[in-house]
Amino acid sequence: MRAEALADRLRARGALLDGHFRLSSGRHSDRFIQKFRILEDPSIVEPLAADIAAAVREYAPTVVVSAAVGGIVLGYEVARQLGTLAIFVEKESGAPALRRSFALGPSDRALVVEDVVTTGLSLREVMEVVRSKGAEVVAVAVIVRREPVEFGVPTTILLELPVQSWDPADCPACAQGVPIDDPGSRRRA
Ligand SMILES: [Zn+2]
Repeated sequence: MRAEALADRLRARGALLDGHFRLSSGRHSDRFIQKFRILEDPSIVEPLAADIAAAVREYAPTVVVSAAVGGIVLGYEVARQLGTLAIFVEKESGAPALRRSFALGPSDRALVVEDVVTTGLSLREVMEVVRSKGAEVVAVAVIVRREPVEFGVPTTILLELPVQSWDPADCPACAQGVPIDDPGSRRRA
């Protein structure tokens, strides 16, 4: 799917909101991503996973690794299309780990997937867990990248959506007296 068509589709689905939002950092932004409006819809996840699978097949991954919770959905669908296993990293006593007896070893070639990347912290944590098991991270794939973060391996990005944000004191929407949007109230019926 072309990036422009994908952005339109995410907008129509309520996954990409335009308005006046307060980010978790406290800064204000004119855009907000509701990633579960993507992940709850197989008719979007399937073609996005197909784009990822097509882009990474040349790296011959043997396993897809993601981060709980959102990444599990994407990872599973990408793995289904590649014919590999799908496992995920979650927190154990506050630290990222493989639980549930998921096995990963030196013969594994891991594709690490993530839905939305901003700082890249969560994705880097997954890469570290993979490498701590002796496995190789052969590629990274993400649906939406919001900051120009790099991972040092071949990376597939389906959509670049740079964050535009302002200190509340400099926010143009605040200056016009526009109230802050609550993304939760804008869920599609
Ligand atoms: Zn504002």
